[in-house]
Parts: sequence; structure tokens; C-alpha cells
Amino acid sequence: MAPQSLKIDNARYVLTLDGERRIIRDGSILVERDRIARVGKAGELAGVSADRVIDGRQFLVTPGFVNGHMHISYAHAVRGIFPDELASPLVHVFKLQAEMTEDEEYHTSLLGIVELLRNGTVCFLDPGSTKHPDACRQAYEDSGIRVILGECVTDREAPFTLPCYSTKEAIARTASFLAKWHGSVGGKVSAWAMPFSPETCTAELLRGLRQLVDEHHTGLTLHHGSGPQARKDYAARHGLRPTEYLESIGVLGPNVLLAHALGIDDAEIDCVARTGAAVTMCPVTAAKGGRGVPENGRMPELLSKGVRVALGCDSPNNSNHLDPIRTMNMAAIQYKDARQDTRQIPAEAALEMGTRLGAQALGLGDQLGSIEVGKKADFVLFDTARPEWQALWNPINNLVYNADGRSVHTVVIDGRVVVDAYRQSFVDESRLFGKVQEIGEALQARTGTAFPRSRWPMV
Ligand SMILES: [Zn+2]
Repeated sequence: MAPQSLKIDNARYVLTLDGERRIIRDGSILVERDRIARVGKAGELAGVSADRVIDGRQFLVTPGFVNGHMHISYAHAVRGIFPDELASPLVHVFKLQAEMTEDEEYHTSLLGIVELLRNGTVCFLDPGSTKHPDACRQAYEDSGIRVILGECVTDREAPFTLPCYSTKEAIARTASFLAKWHGSVGGKVSAWAMPFSPETCTAELLRGLRQLVDEHHTGLTLHHGSGPQARKDYAARHGLRPTEYLESIGVLGPNVLLAHALGIDDAEIDCVARTGAAVTMCPVTAAKGGRGVPENGRMPELLSKGVRVALGCDSPNNSNHLDPIRTMNMAAIQYKDARQDTRQIPAEAALEMGTRLGAQALGLGDQLGSIEVGKKADFVLFDTARPEWQALWNPINNLVYNADGRSVHTVVIDGRVVVDAYRQSFVDESRLFGKVQEIGEALQARTGTAFPRSRWPMV
């Protein structure tokens, strides 16, 4: 149970991410039940007591981080199996995912959630990977993390194993998923429509799903890339650029989130900005996958047009790590190098995408993403009593360029301390790690998935 009140007393810095982006030195936060009741200088809250008081002197406090594209399911059990030179692991990914049993998916999802939480993530969007949400419900409940879930649907053939239905059935399945899950688990689980991509769905399906999410006041996400081949295909078929096609069929809007969005040009950025759609970018996946960020990455232009951009890690077999700090770091340094211009994506912009702007992209900006009175009590305490935090003059530079998720000391969601002094208490981690290793062994054997375990001799 969460205490009725919690106070973070005299924190070294509080990065509020409020409207003025105030950084409060020697700051205190008072939480009452699930909400932030007061934020200010420690002196202003000196006489305020609480059921639990955490001495904040060694901590830097940030809003909880949001992950706008995180395939949680099979990957933790087989993380790292794909060799670098494998151009696209997608065929293997979908085969492994399709094989997951309820029990396997529960354990691998639980491990994913443990890793997300221990790195300071309070909310993630799974773009339709979870096959057995009923089996995973206990993991959502026990951990306290916020989740945006959906059922992956398509109504056209794809080059890999995706769930394919008639248009009518895909819409009906999504409708029943929304009815069952949206607002469930104490409001922590939201449900969205999750068509896989414009290439695997008809215009009729995409339009039908958009209408459905408008009626349910929820969101829709889909994978969206552009690039030379896609441009040719869309030009031949529709006489339009890929993003123009989405706009022309009436799919884009404020409750629509495009994932990746690599390879889009200025006219397509205008489509996104004009319609108010949001974007999740996965900078580590882009770099590791050799996606050509210098040519195809348009994060600075999207931000300058006012588009809400969230960050994601794609999957534990794409970015491989689930650390929001390393993801922000990549966003901040990747564009400086790509454009040979150190003014690109300042550390502050990266932090905004991980918190305030990311929460807005997920439609949760009124609840999450900043430390302000009335918002949900979701925040992270970073331990500055560690070598990588020394010396500490500019806390945002230290957070984005020096630190990583290993200095996440304490995480609070809804006023509940879910990570307390580096530890979570809802699962026995060493048993879970052993279980997931066993699942990985069995899964590779069952699916006949075999990659060399190393290029070097393993003796
Ligand atoms: Zn994805």
C-alpha cells in the first residue's frame, strides 16, 4: 500500500519540467495519495510532515520517464542472439513471438518491467506485441507500472508472421480489446488501436480504427517509415508520399502516434505537424540498425515544427537496453554528429522528449511528464553520490551526458515507492532471471532458431 503522504525533503536538485522548466535547488516535494500536492524550496515546506520522509540531499529528482515504443514479449528470453551482420531479424522475431506461451510471456514481460522500472521508466507503450495480456495482467498489477496496450492487427499479407484478419474482424477485435482493457488495472492500463503498418493494412481498416479510437477517446499507433523504396511504391500506387497517403485517407490526427518516422521529407513533416499527429523515435535502434540517421533522421525538424516527439527503445533485441538515459544520450549526440553541428538536440531537448513531451505524445501530458502540483506523483531519484555524477554544476548535462540508469535509486509511481534504494520488492529477481534463461533455451530449441553464440571460441 502507498502511504497517504510522502515527502522528498531537501533534494539537491528538482528538475520540474514545468511550464518555466524550473530547476529547484534544495527542493522538496509533498505527495498526498497519488498526486503531487506541493513543490518548492525546502525552506517553504520545512514545517510540512508526511507519513514517510525521504532525505533528498544526495538526490536529483526528475519526472518519471516514458517509453513510446517498446515491444515487450519474447525478446528478453533471447536477448543478444542476433549477430550484428544479420540485416533484418524480423522473420526470426515474429516466429519467436508467435511461439510464446502464456507462462513464458508472463515471465519475460515481468523481467522487461523490472528492467524498465529500475531504469526510471514509469510508462511504456507496447505496440501490440503482447499475445497474452490476461496472463501478463498480474505483472502490471504487481509492478505498478503504467502500460499502453493493444492488439496487433493487419488485413493484408505481410512477409512475416503477423496476425491477419478480415477488415471487419480486425476492427471488431480492436473494439473488444478497447472495451476490456482501457482504464483497467486501477487506471494504469490504457488500450489503443495498433495496426502494424500502412503497408500491412488497407485504408478501410486504418480509417475504421481511427474512427474507433475517436469514439473511445483513446489513441492509435502504427509503424511508419519512408525512405527511397517506400517513396517509389507509394508514388506508383497512390501518387503520394507515404505520410501524405496517411493524411489523404484521414488517418492522421492528434491521437495518432507514428513509430520511427525515418526517411520522411519536409512535405511529410508538414503533414504530421498540420494534423497534430505525434511521433516516437528510437535513436538507439536507428544507430544500431544502421538506418542512416544523417540522411533519414528528422528529429530536429519535427521538434522545430512543434511535433510532440517521444523516445522509445523498440525492443530488447533492437536497442537491446531499456535505459531512458542512454536513449536520451543517443538522441542528443546522434544529431550533433550526423549534422556536424553541436547545436542540434541540446540535452534539455532530449530530456523533454523522455519526460514532458513524450508524455504529451502518448496523450498523457495532463497527468505525467513534469513535477507540478496536481499531476500524478511519478518521479525518479538519481543518486548523485556516485563517481559519474562528479563534479556537479549543470545537472541536465550530467544527467544526459555522464549518467545512465544505474544511478536510479528510487522510483515513485502514483505515490507508491516501486523502486526503493535500488531494490524492487514485487518479484524475486534471481529466480526470475533463471526462469527467463530457461525459457530462452526452450524457445530456441522449439523454433529451431540457432545462431552462433560467439564469433570467438567458447571453451
Ligand atoms: Zn516496433
